[in-house]
Amino acid sequence: MNFSAPELLIVLLVVLLLFGASRLPKLARSMGQASKEFKSGLKEGYKEEPVEGPCPFCAANVPAESKFCPGCGKSAEDIVAEKAKKNQTSS
Ligand SMILES: [Zn+2]
Repeated sequence: MNFSAPELLIVLLVVLLLFGASRLPKLARSMGQASKEFKSGLKEGYKEEPVEGPCPFCAANVPAESKFCPGCGKSAEDIVAEKAKKNQTSS
């Protein structure tokens, strides 16, 4: 099926009538929340960054998914935060 813009509007209106106008703001809100969370996730960024790679403290190779550095015992959070710091200052 291929809808042109006015047809889409009519379909939207029918959907609005069928499901009730009250549900749409809820839907829009949950969609907005999802995109907001996605954006804030991007901002926090470093939490999503992998710990995999050389440790910024002792240069030991840290395997992905590990909670601590095998070399110096720093936590994954410290490693990722330090990496982010180094990335910021080097650029
Ligand atoms: Zn280390």
